[in-house]
Amino acid sequence: LVASMEEVEQTYIMIKPDGVQRGLVGEIISRFEKKGFKLTGLKLFQCPKELAEEHYKDLQSKPFFPKLIDYITSGPVVCMGWEGVGVVASARKLIGATNPLNAEPGTIRGDLAVQTGRNVVHGSDSPDNGKHEIGLWFKEGELCAWTAIQEPWLV
Ligand code: ADP
Ligand code: MG
Repeated sequence: LVASMEEVEQTYIMIKPDGVQRGLVGEIISRFEKKGFKLTGLKLFQCPKELAEEHYKDLQSKPFFPKLIDYITSGPVVCMGWEGVGVVASARKLIGATNPLNAEPGTIRGDLAVQTGRNVVHGSDSPDNGKHEIGLWFKEGELCAWTAIQEPWLV
């Protein structure tokens, strides 16, 4: 069955600087592709401090906040928009727990990372935040709405 349009969500996925530095870009992108979600935006980007602070503003009172901002701005990130039915929660499952030592094998963090402060990838935590974060990280015209020819098999 082709899913109804109401269930289609957007999520913002970002490969953090450690993922880029370690050569994990292809590996991480392929997990979302193989799952069957649709890529709607993709860029390599050096994040300015102000944007990192805005993206993580809910964490600004945490003791690790300054280190988190240093981490995210330490080198280029890969910004992605992904679309699909249930993509927000599914992407969080594919990514795994925040602390990679608690992330199950088979997840991105479970397979590829060790430290919470170097956990290689970000994923939006709600459909509303998915839309919000895509708007924060991408300019109009950088996103691409497209129809896959295998549409019945993609969501
Ligand atoms: P998630 O990325 O799984 O949604 P959070 O939103 O709680 O996790 O935190 C955002 C990011 O902040 C984490 O992915 C991680 O990079 C960093 N972070 C969270 N908690 C800690 C911590 N205790 N020490 C260092 N960095 C942390
Ligand atoms: Mg989060």
